[in-house]
Amino acid sequence: MHDSTAEQTRIANVHPPAWENPRAKDRYHLVVIGGGTGGLVTAAIAAGLGARTALVERHWMGGDCLNVGCVPSKALLRAAREWHAASTAHERFGGPVVDGQRDFGAAVRRMQEIRADISAVDSAPRYRELGVDVFFGQARFTGADNVTVDGQNLRFRRAVIATGTRPAVPPIPGLADTGYLTNETIFSLTEVPRRLAVIGGGPIGAELAQAFARFGSIVTILQKDQRILGKDDPEAAGIVAAALARDGVRILTSVKIERVERRQSIVIHSVREGRNEELQADAILVASGRVPNVEELGLDEAGIEYDQRRVITDDRLRTSNRRVYAVGDITGRAPFTHVADAHARMVVQNALFFGRKKVTDLVIPWCTYTHPELAHVGMKWDEAGKRGDTMDSITIPLHDVDRARLDGDEAGFLRVHLREGSDKILAATLVGDHAGDIIGQLSMAMRQGLGLSAVGATIFPYPTEAEVIRKAADAWRKRKLSPRVRGLFQLYFRLVR
Ligand SMILES: Cc1cc2nc3c(=O)[nH]c(=O)nc-3n(C[C@H](O)[C@H](O)[C@H](O)COP(=O)(O)OP(=O)(O)OC[C@H]3O[C@@H](n4cnc5c(N)ncnc54)[C@H](O)[C@@H]3O)c2cc1C
Repeated sequence: MHDSTAEQTRIANVHPPAWENPRAKDRYHLVVIGGGTGGLVTAAIAAGLGARTALVERHWMGGDCLNVGCVPSKALLRAAREWHAASTAHERFGGPVVDGQRDFGAAVRRMQEIRADISAVDSAPRYRELGVDVFFGQARFTGADNVTVDGQNLRFRRAVIATGTRPAVPPIPGLADTGYLTNETIFSLTEVPRRLAVIGGGPIGAELAQAFARFGSIVTILQKDQRILGKDDPEAAGIVAAALARDGVRILTSVKIERVERRQSIVIHSVREGRNEELQADAILVASGRVPNVEELGLDEAGIEYDQRRVITDDRLRTSNRRVYAVGDITGRAPFTHVADAHARMVVQNALFFGRKKVTDLVIPWCTYTHPELAHVGMKWDEAGKRGDTMDSITIPLHDVDRARLDGDEAGFLRVHLREGSDKILAATLVGDHAGDIIGQLSMAMRQGLGLSAVGATIFPYPTEAEVIRKAADAWRKRKLSPRVRGLFQLYFRLVR
């Protein structure tokens, strides 16, 4: 499986086969458990500031994001997007007629090469050079201020748990026997399954369903809820669902899977709207949630509270053991790489320097990298009412933005939610080809306390899709014009010749 040169390079970086663990120092300022984004950023900053730092990783440095998450998925999505652009070029733009063979193997090789290149940044030798003692092995607390790994004791002043999550596998009878893919195995495929059933219609399921459909799989999403991308604005999720359907993805909602069996192929038995249904597939991708990596960590020995979803932390990311903090996905908070990174920066201050940074002060954007992308920032679409905020909402269809029309990216929209009667931005949703990039501008405005009118006073180059933000500001300004002010303007222009 790791036989290509690129794969050997990656493994030499993320878990060098001949690695020898260093001899543990007497006591560390900081011991970090888990070498994914959260752990790596924490360890790098702490060591850079001069703290005696140890990092323990049991599998691959870089964690999910580098090895089996963001990096490989976005590389395959990009390749699939190119193939889609090529094969629809004539119909959409009068471009060339392309009818070639989709080369999934080539896309995988490209992905592996990029992933291998990027892995140098997360590599064990680099972290050693940064001054971090890197230990490979399973970390386990054996007391309130001690962790063991590979037969050595790492005593600490502070520790950070950054052990992340893994795929949750639903207890469907027969699933273990038929076999299934998860994000941990799907990126090792070199050919696409002819028929792929995706269990789960969250961001991971939606992204991979589209990528595999564009590479020629017949893809069906089986979603237990009434719609896919349930954490996002329903209208925005509907636009993505329609795009997936255009790519040939069948989306079955309100599905209850009863059992799975292998005949000539895999057969999935389910109930939908009271009817029994059967679906044939050659492979199943399980993308139906995550469970925290808490087992074998010895959390009870260290007095650290946890539940089935997470290690429990307070607003400053401290656990019930005052020496121990947690960052990233293991906290059960927004499960994104950029959030793990933000947690890490906070925790170094809070754990080592009496900082008082709070997670609730973070402005968090996220994006699902389907085509079109669906990006959001701020409170969830259904949270405002619950918190008692009353909102004004402004929606600008991308059809009103020249660049979106020129690019054939008109289906989406920007929706900005403002505190009622003011231009304070509470949240925003954007669906469009560049939504993930553009949402960053609204994140920055929210973080800096800039209202929509201040963002709208910015000059955006024409024609760009980011102009949609200025259009939202214009719409707000127009709406703000009360009938009285409008009447005064009309009177003024009647008098002035
Ligand atoms: C398919 C997919 C696509 C994704 N795409 C995106 C995206 O586009 N953008 C985005 O922001 N996020 C994305 N994510 C989410 C992102 O990968 C995670 O949010 C991020 O990896 C969290 O980092 P972390 O450090 O908390 O945990 P992880 O990356 O999970 O790292 C945890 C590490 O801890 C190690 N570990 C666990 N237990 C122990 C132990 N006892 N001892 C030693 N080591 C241990 C593990 O081996 C692992 O390396 C994606 C996820 C998936 C699965």
